[in-house]
Amino acid sequence: MKKIAIITGISGQDGAYLAQLLLDKGYVVHGTYRRTSSVNFWRIEELGIQNHPDLHLVEYDLTDLGANIALVQKVQPDEIYNLAAQSFVGVSFEQPNATAQITGIGALNLLEAIRLVNRKVRYYQASTSEMFGKVQAIPQAEDTPFYPRSPYGVAKLYAHWMTVNYRESYDIFGSSGILFNHESPLRGREFVTRKITDAVAKIKLGKLDCLELGNIDAKRDWGFAKDYVEGMWRILQADESDTFVLATNRTETVRDFVTMAFKGAGIAVEFRGKAEEETAVDIATGKTVMRVNPKFYRPAEVDLLIGNPAKAKAKLGWEPKTTLEQLCQMMVEADLRRNEEGFSF
Ligand code: NDP
Ligand code: GDP
Repeated sequence: MKKIAIITGISGQDGAYLAQLLLDKGYVVHGTYRRTSSVNFWRIEELGIQNHPDLHLVEYDLTDLGANIALVQKVQPDEIYNLAAQSFVGVSFEQPNATAQITGIGALNLLEAIRLVNRKVRYYQASTSEMFGKVQAIPQAEDTPFYPRSPYGVAKLYAHWMTVNYRESYDIFGSSGILFNHESPLRGREFVTRKITDAVAKIKLGKLDCLELGNIDAKRDWGFAKDYVEGMWRILQADESDTFVLATNRTETVRDFVTMAFKGAGIAVEFRGKAEEETAVDIATGKTVMRVNPKFYRPAEVDLLIGNPAKAKAKLGWEPKTTLEQLCQMMVEADLRRNEEGFSF
Protein backbone atom coordinates (compact mmCIF):
# COMPACT_ATOMS: atom_id res chain seq x y z
CA MET A 1 0.00 0.00 0.00
CA LYS A 2 1.31 3.42 -0.96
CA LYS A 3 1.46 6.02 1.79
CA ILE A 4 -0.87 8.98 1.31
CA ALA A 5 0.23 12.53 2.09
CA ILE A 6 -1.48 15.89 2.01
CA ILE A 7 0.74 18.89 1.30
CA THR A 8 -0.96 22.23 1.89
CA GLY A 9 0.58 24.95 -0.29
CA ILE A 10 1.86 22.84 -3.20
CA SER A 11 2.06 25.97 -5.35
CA GLY A 12 4.77 27.34 -3.02
CA GLN A 13 8.52 26.71 -3.00
CA ASP A 14 8.64 23.98 -0.34
CA GLY A 15 5.38 22.37 -1.45
CA ALA A 16 6.82 21.77 -4.91
CA TYR A 17 10.10 20.27 -3.67
CA LEU A 18 8.35 18.17 -1.02
CA ALA A 19 5.86 16.83 -3.56
CA GLN A 20 8.76 15.80 -5.80
CA LEU A 21 10.49 14.05 -2.88
CA LEU A 22 7.38 12.17 -1.73
CA LEU A 23 6.46 11.10 -5.28
CA ASP A 24 10.02 9.79 -5.69
CA LYS A 25 9.51 7.82 -2.48
CA GLY A 26 6.33 6.23 -3.86
CA TYR A 27 3.70 8.29 -2.00
CA VAL A 28 0.34 9.34 -3.35
CA VAL A 29 0.34 13.11 -2.89
CA HIS A 30 -2.68 15.39 -2.55
CA GLY A 31 -1.40 18.92 -3.00
CA THR A 32 -3.64 21.85 -2.18
CA TYR A 33 -3.86 25.15 -4.00
CA ARG A 34 -6.09 28.18 -3.59
CA ARG A 35 -8.83 29.25 -5.93
CA THR A 36 -7.54 32.31 -7.81
CA SER A 37 -8.60 33.90 -11.09
CA SER A 38 -5.46 32.48 -12.72
CA VAL A 39 -3.95 29.43 -11.03
CA ASN A 40 -0.21 29.19 -11.27
CA PHE A 41 1.72 25.95 -11.07
CA TRP A 42 5.04 27.19 -12.50
CA ARG A 43 7.04 25.51 -9.71
CA ILE A 44 5.69 21.99 -10.15
CA GLU A 45 5.99 22.54 -13.89
CA GLU A 46 9.68 23.46 -13.53
CA LEU A 47 10.18 20.24 -11.55
CA GLY A 48 8.28 18.29 -14.23
CA ILE A 49 5.85 16.63 -11.79
CA GLN A 50 2.57 18.36 -12.72
CA ASN A 51 1.29 15.34 -14.66
CA HIS A 52 2.58 12.63 -12.30
CA PRO A 53 -0.11 9.94 -11.96
CA ASP A 54 0.18 9.92 -8.16
CA LEU A 55 -0.17 13.67 -7.81
CA HIS A 56 -3.66 15.03 -7.15
CA LEU A 57 -4.26 18.77 -7.04
CA VAL A 58 -7.01 19.84 -4.66
CA GLU A 59 -8.60 23.28 -4.47
CA TYR A 60 -8.78 24.31 -0.82
CA ASP A 61 -8.41 27.20 1.61
CA LEU A 62 -6.68 26.72 4.95
CA THR A 63 -8.87 29.33 6.64
CA ASP A 64 -12.08 27.34 6.07
CA LEU A 65 -12.53 24.88 8.96
CA GLY A 66 -15.14 22.84 7.09
CA ALA A 67 -12.83 22.51 4.08
CA ASN A 68 -10.08 21.18 6.35
CA ILE A 69 -12.37 18.59 7.91
CA ALA A 70 -13.69 17.55 4.50
CA LEU A 71 -10.16 17.26 3.10
CA VAL A 72 -8.97 14.94 5.88
CA GLN A 73 -12.19 12.90 5.69
CA LYS A 74 -11.96 12.50 1.91
CA VAL A 75 -8.23 11.82 1.50
CA GLN A 76 -7.69 9.75 4.68
CA PRO A 77 -3.98 10.63 4.69
CA ASP A 78 -1.15 9.02 6.66
CA GLU A 79 0.72 12.31 6.83
CA ILE A 80 -0.12 16.00 6.51
CA TYR A 81 2.54 18.63 5.80
CA ASN A 82 1.10 22.04 6.59
CA LEU A 83 3.18 24.36 4.43
CA ALA A 84 0.43 26.80 3.46
CA ALA A 85 0.85 30.25 4.94
CA GLN A 86 0.98 33.95 4.27
CA SER A 87 4.73 33.49 4.48
CA PHE A 88 6.19 36.93 3.74
CA VAL A 89 7.25 38.98 6.78
CA GLY A 90 7.00 42.31 4.92
CA VAL A 91 3.36 41.75 3.93
CA SER A 92 2.48 40.61 7.46
CA PHE A 93 2.99 44.19 8.68
CA GLU A 94 0.50 45.41 6.03
CA GLN A 95 -1.97 42.53 6.51
CA PRO A 96 -1.62 41.35 10.13
CA ASN A 97 -5.19 40.11 10.38
CA ALA A 98 -5.10 38.02 7.20
CA THR A 99 -1.71 36.68 8.29
CA ALA A 100 -3.14 35.66 11.69
CA GLN A 101 -6.11 33.92 10.02
CA ILE A 102 -4.04 32.00 7.47
CA THR A 103 -0.72 31.40 9.20
CA GLY A 104 -2.04 31.06 12.76
CA ILE A 105 -5.68 29.92 12.80
CA GLY A 106 -5.18 27.94 9.57
CA ALA A 107 -2.91 25.52 11.42
CA LEU A 108 -5.49 25.18 14.20
CA ASN A 109 -8.11 24.30 11.58
CA LEU A 110 -5.99 21.39 10.34
CA LEU A 111 -5.22 20.21 13.86
CA GLU A 112 -8.94 20.32 14.64
CA ALA A 113 -9.64 18.27 11.51
CA ILE A 114 -7.15 15.64 12.70
CA ARG A 115 -8.61 15.66 16.23
CA LEU A 116 -12.15 15.22 14.92
CA VAL A 117 -11.55 12.86 11.99
CA ASN A 118 -8.52 10.66 12.66
CA ARG A 119 -5.99 11.12 15.45
CA LYS A 120 -3.54 8.68 13.83
CA VAL A 121 -2.61 11.15 11.09
CA ARG A 122 0.94 12.49 11.42
CA TYR A 123 1.08 16.31 11.24
CA TYR A 124 4.03 18.50 10.26
CA GLN A 125 3.87 22.20 11.16
CA ALA A 126 6.09 24.56 9.16
CA SER A 127 7.49 26.64 11.99
CA THR A 128 10.13 29.28 11.46
CA SER A 129 13.26 30.89 12.85
CA GLU A 130 11.29 34.16 12.70
CA MET A 131 9.79 32.98 16.02
CA PHE A 132 13.22 33.69 17.62
CA GLY A 133 13.04 37.27 16.30
CA LYS A 134 14.94 39.42 18.77
CA VAL A 135 17.23 36.55 19.55
CA GLN A 136 17.73 35.47 23.15
CA ALA A 137 20.74 33.20 22.45
CA ILE A 138 23.31 32.57 19.71
CA PRO A 139 22.99 30.14 18.01
CA GLN A 140 19.27 29.40 18.34
CA ALA A 141 18.16 25.86 19.23
CA GLU A 142 14.90 24.12 20.21
CA ASP A 143 15.14 25.40 23.81
CA THR A 144 15.91 29.05 22.95
CA PRO A 145 13.14 31.38 24.18
CA PHE A 146 11.00 32.91 21.43
CA TYR A 147 10.60 36.66 20.81
CA PRO A 148 8.84 37.18 17.46
CA ARG A 149 9.26 40.58 15.79
CA SER A 150 6.53 40.57 13.14
CA PRO A 151 2.85 39.63 12.81
CA TYR A 152 4.10 36.67 10.75
CA GLY A 153 6.39 35.51 13.58
CA VAL A 154 3.59 35.91 16.14
CA ALA A 155 1.11 33.95 13.98
CA LYS A 156 3.66 31.17 13.43
CA LEU A 157 4.36 31.02 17.16
CA TYR A 158 0.65 30.48 17.81
CA ALA A 159 0.59 27.64 15.29
CA HIS A 160 3.74 26.16 16.81
CA TRP A 161 2.35 26.12 20.34
CA MET A 162 -0.97 24.73 19.11
CA THR A 163 0.94 21.85 17.53
CA VAL A 164 2.73 21.21 20.83
CA ASN A 165 -0.56 21.53 22.70
CA TYR A 166 -2.40 19.04 20.47
CA ARG A 167 0.55 16.66 20.84
CA GLU A 168 0.32 16.87 24.62
CA SER A 169 -3.48 17.11 24.98
CA TYR A 170 -4.73 14.58 22.43
CA ASP A 171 -1.71 12.37 21.82
CA ILE A 172 -1.65 13.52 18.19
CA PHE A 173 1.63 13.01 16.30
CA GLY A 174 2.16 16.73 15.76
CA SER A 175 5.72 17.75 14.99
CA SER A 176 7.14 21.19 14.43
CA GLY A 177 10.12 21.93 12.22
CA ILE A 178 11.69 25.26 13.13
CA LEU A 179 13.29 25.94 9.78
CA PHE A 180 15.75 28.72 9.17
CA ASN A 181 15.56 30.60 5.85
CA HIS A 182 15.80 28.27 2.90
CA GLU A 183 16.02 29.39 -0.66
CA SER A 184 16.20 27.99 -4.17
CA PRO A 185 15.55 28.92 -7.79
CA LEU A 186 11.86 28.35 -6.89
CA ARG A 187 11.86 31.02 -4.14
CA GLY A 188 9.29 33.81 -4.53
CA ARG A 189 10.76 37.03 -5.94
CA GLU A 190 9.65 39.10 -2.93
CA PHE A 191 12.21 37.33 -0.69
CA VAL A 192 15.60 38.98 -0.56
CA THR A 193 17.79 36.22 -2.06
CA ARG A 194 15.65 35.72 -5.16
CA LYS A 195 15.04 39.46 -5.48
CA ILE A 196 18.84 39.81 -5.61
CA THR A 197 19.57 36.93 -8.02
CA ASP A 198 16.78 38.00 -10.38
CA ALA A 199 18.02 41.61 -10.36
CA VAL A 200 21.64 40.52 -10.83
CA ALA A 201 20.60 38.50 -13.88
CA LYS A 202 18.66 41.47 -15.30
CA ILE A 203 21.60 43.84 -14.69
CA LYS A 204 23.99 41.38 -16.35
CA LEU A 205 21.69 41.18 -19.39
CA GLY A 206 21.21 44.97 -19.56
CA LYS A 207 17.51 44.78 -18.58
CA LEU A 208 17.89 46.69 -15.27
CA ASP A 209 20.25 49.42 -14.06
CA CYS A 210 20.12 49.13 -10.31
CA LEU A 211 18.80 46.88 -7.52
CA GLU A 212 17.17 48.55 -4.49
CA LEU A 213 17.26 46.90 -1.07
CA GLY A 214 16.40 47.67 2.56
CA ASN A 215 18.53 46.62 5.53
CA ILE A 216 21.61 44.92 4.08
CA ASP A 217 23.18 44.47 7.54
CA ALA A 218 20.58 41.79 8.46
CA LYS A 219 22.17 38.37 8.92
CA ARG A 220 20.49 35.13 7.95
CA ASP A 221 21.24 31.41 8.10
CA TRP A 222 20.38 30.47 4.49
CA GLY A 223 20.09 26.85 3.32
CA PHE A 224 18.80 25.09 0.20
CA ALA A 225 15.05 24.26 0.21
CA LYS A 226 15.56 20.83 -1.34
CA ASP A 227 17.77 19.79 1.59
CA TYR A 228 15.15 21.11 4.04
CA VAL A 229 12.13 19.22 2.65
CA GLU A 230 14.12 16.01 3.19
CA GLY A 231 14.32 17.11 6.84
CA MET A 232 10.52 17.63 6.97
CA TRP A 233 9.98 14.07 5.78
CA ARG A 234 12.46 12.71 8.32
CA ILE A 235 10.68 14.62 11.10
CA LEU A 236 7.46 12.70 10.34
CA GLN A 237 9.28 9.33 10.14
CA ALA A 238 10.70 9.66 13.70
CA ASP A 239 9.47 7.33 16.44
CA GLU A 240 7.92 10.21 18.38
CA SER A 241 6.57 13.63 17.52
CA ASP A 242 8.88 16.43 18.56
CA THR A 243 10.29 19.84 17.66
CA PHE A 244 13.43 20.18 15.53
CA VAL A 245 15.58 23.04 14.28
CA LEU A 246 16.80 22.72 10.67
CA ALA A 247 19.59 25.17 9.84
CA THR A 248 23.12 25.37 8.41
CA ASN A 249 24.79 27.00 11.45
CA ARG A 250 26.36 29.65 9.19
CA THR A 251 25.16 33.25 9.05
CA GLU A 252 25.91 35.94 6.46
CA THR A 253 24.69 39.48 5.83
CA VAL A 254 22.41 40.44 2.97
CA ARG A 255 25.39 42.51 1.77
CA ASP A 256 27.49 39.31 1.55
CA PHE A 257 24.77 37.65 -0.50
CA VAL A 258 24.74 40.65 -2.88
CA THR A 259 28.52 40.33 -3.39
CA MET A 260 28.22 36.57 -3.92
CA ALA A 261 25.38 36.91 -6.45
CA PHE A 262 27.14 39.58 -8.55
CA LYS A 263 30.30 37.47 -8.45
CA GLY A 264 28.25 34.51 -9.71
CA ALA A 265 27.35 36.61 -12.79
CA GLY A 266 30.98 37.67 -13.28
CA ILE A 267 30.56 41.18 -11.80
CA ALA A 268 32.89 42.37 -9.01
CA VAL A 269 31.32 45.04 -6.77
CA GLU A 270 32.56 47.46 -4.15
CA PHE A 271 30.37 48.98 -1.42
CA ARG A 272 30.47 52.74 -0.80
CA GLY A 273 28.80 55.01 1.75
CA LYS A 274 26.94 54.06 4.91
CA ALA A 275 23.40 53.18 6.02
CA GLU A 276 20.73 54.87 3.87
CA GLU A 277 23.44 56.22 1.54
CA GLU A 278 25.09 52.85 0.89
CA THR A 279 25.60 51.71 -2.68
CA ALA A 280 27.41 48.93 -4.55
CA VAL A 281 29.40 49.88 -7.60
CA ASP A 282 30.49 47.65 -10.50
CA ILE A 283 34.29 47.98 -10.24
CA ALA A 284 34.79 47.43 -13.98
CA THR A 285 32.29 50.06 -15.23
CA GLY A 286 31.91 52.41 -12.23
CA LYS A 287 28.10 52.08 -12.47
CA THR A 288 25.95 51.91 -9.31
CA VAL A 289 24.26 48.50 -9.40
CA MET A 290 22.73 48.42 -5.88
CA ARG A 291 21.45 51.16 -3.61
CA VAL A 292 19.74 51.13 -0.24
CA ASN A 293 16.17 52.44 -0.23
CA PRO A 294 14.63 52.90 3.25
CA LYS A 295 11.25 52.07 1.70
CA PHE A 296 12.25 48.43 2.17
CA TYR A 297 13.09 48.77 5.89
CA ARG A 298 10.73 46.90 8.22
CA PRO A 299 8.94 48.42 11.24
CA ALA A 300 10.79 45.89 13.44
CA GLU A 301 13.75 43.90 12.18
CA VAL A 302 15.20 40.48 12.95
CA ASP A 303 18.90 41.35 12.94
CA LEU A 304 20.63 38.00 13.27
CA LEU A 305 19.60 34.39 12.80
CA ILE A 306 21.88 31.39 13.12
CA GLY A 307 20.53 27.97 13.99
CA ASN A 308 21.97 24.96 15.74
CA PRO A 309 20.74 21.80 13.95
CA ALA A 310 22.56 19.37 16.30
CA LYS A 311 19.35 17.69 17.51
CA ALA A 312 18.18 16.99 13.93
CA LYS A 313 21.58 15.53 13.11
CA ALA A 314 21.66 13.32 16.20
CA LYS A 315 18.03 12.10 16.11
CA LEU A 316 17.15 12.22 12.41
CA GLY A 317 20.54 11.92 10.72
CA TRP A 318 19.70 15.17 8.88
CA GLU A 319 22.37 17.55 7.66
CA PRO A 320 22.33 20.29 5.00
CA LYS A 321 24.30 19.24 1.92
CA THR A 322 24.48 22.46 -0.11
CA THR A 323 26.78 25.41 0.66
CA LEU A 324 25.60 29.00 0.39
CA GLU A 325 28.00 29.55 -2.53
CA GLN A 326 26.49 26.57 -4.42
CA LEU A 327 22.96 27.76 -3.64
CA CYS A 328 23.63 31.33 -4.76
CA GLN A 329 25.29 30.15 -7.99
CA MET A 330 22.34 27.83 -8.75
CA MET A 331 19.90 30.74 -8.26
CA VAL A 332 21.92 33.19 -10.37
CA GLU A 333 22.24 30.68 -13.21
CA ALA A 334 18.52 29.86 -13.13
CA ASP A 335 17.63 33.57 -13.23
CA LEU A 336 20.09 34.27 -16.06
CA ARG A 337 18.51 31.47 -18.08
CA ARG A 338 14.96 32.58 -17.28
CA ASN A 339 15.62 36.23 -18.06
CA GLU A 340 17.13 35.25 -21.38
CA GLU A 341 14.00 33.21 -22.12
CA GLY A 342 11.60 35.95 -20.96
CA PHE A 343 10.29 33.96 -17.96
CA SER A 344 8.31 36.20 -15.60
CA PHE A 345 7.78 34.47 -12.20
P1 NDP B 1 5.52 30.07 -0.13
O1 NDP B 1 5.08 31.45 0.18
O2 NDP B 1 6.34 29.84 -1.35
O3 NDP B 1 4.24 29.12 -0.21
C1 NDP B 1 3.15 29.28 0.64
C2 NDP B 1 2.00 28.45 0.13
O4 NDP B 1 0.86 28.66 0.96
C3 NDP B 1 1.56 28.78 -1.30
O5 NDP B 1 1.29 27.58 -1.99
C4 NDP B 1 0.28 29.57 -1.08
O6 NDP B 1 -0.61 29.53 -2.15
C5 NDP B 1 -0.29 28.82 0.11
N1 NDP B 1 -1.35 29.56 0.80
C6 NDP B 1 -1.31 30.84 1.22
N2 NDP B 1 -2.49 31.16 1.81
C7 NDP B 1 -3.27 30.05 1.75
C8 NDP B 1 -4.59 29.75 2.17
N3 NDP B 1 -5.36 30.66 2.79
N4 NDP B 1 -5.08 28.51 1.94
C9 NDP B 1 -4.33 27.58 1.33
N5 NDP B 1 -3.07 27.80 0.89
C10 NDP B 1 -2.56 29.03 1.11
O7 NDP B 1 6.30 29.54 1.17
P2 NDP B 1 7.51 28.47 1.27
O8 NDP B 1 7.22 27.34 0.37
O9 NDP B 1 8.79 29.19 1.19
O10 NDP B 1 7.37 28.00 2.78
C11 NDP B 1 6.55 26.89 3.14
C12 NDP B 1 6.16 27.04 4.59
O11 NDP B 1 7.32 27.05 5.42
C13 NDP B 1 5.40 28.31 4.91
O12 NDP B 1 4.45 28.02 5.90
C14 NDP B 1 6.47 29.24 5.45
O13 NDP B 1 5.91 30.20 6.30
C15 NDP B 1 7.34 28.24 6.19
N6 NDP B 1 8.73 28.61 6.34
C16 NDP B 1 9.45 28.96 5.23
C17 NDP B 1 10.77 29.29 5.35
C18 NDP B 1 11.59 29.64 4.15
O14 NDP B 1 12.70 30.14 4.33
N7 NDP B 1 11.13 29.34 2.95
C19 NDP B 1 11.44 29.30 6.67
C20 NDP B 1 10.62 28.79 7.74
C21 NDP B 1 9.31 28.49 7.57
P3 NDP B 1 -0.55 30.63 -3.33
O15 NDP B 1 0.48 30.10 -4.30
O16 NDP B 1 -1.93 30.60 -3.87
O17 NDP B 1 -0.16 31.91 -2.71
P1 GDP C 1 12.67 36.78 6.20
O1 GDP C 1 13.88 36.43 6.99
O2 GDP C 1 11.60 35.73 6.26
O3 GDP C 1 12.14 38.14 6.50
O4 GDP C 1 13.15 36.73 4.66
P2 GDP C 1 13.39 37.88 3.58
O5 GDP C 1 14.16 37.24 2.48
O6 GDP C 1 12.13 38.57 3.23
O7 GDP C 1 14.31 38.93 4.33
C1 GDP C 1 15.58 38.58 4.85
C2 GDP C 1 16.26 39.84 5.37
O8 GDP C 1 16.61 40.67 4.26
C3 GDP C 1 15.40 40.70 6.29
O9 GDP C 1 16.18 41.10 7.39
C4 GDP C 1 15.05 41.91 5.43
O10 GDP C 1 14.84 43.11 6.17
C5 GDP C 1 16.31 42.02 4.60
N1 GDP C 1 16.10 42.78 3.36
C6 GDP C 1 16.84 43.84 2.95
N2 GDP C 1 16.35 44.33 1.82
C7 GDP C 1 15.27 43.58 1.48
C8 GDP C 1 14.36 43.63 0.40
O11 GDP C 1 14.43 44.46 -0.49
N3 GDP C 1 13.39 42.66 0.37
C9 GDP C 1 13.30 41.70 1.36
N4 GDP C 1 12.36 40.76 1.27
N5 GDP C 1 14.15 41.67 2.40
C10 GDP C 1 15.12 42.59 2.47
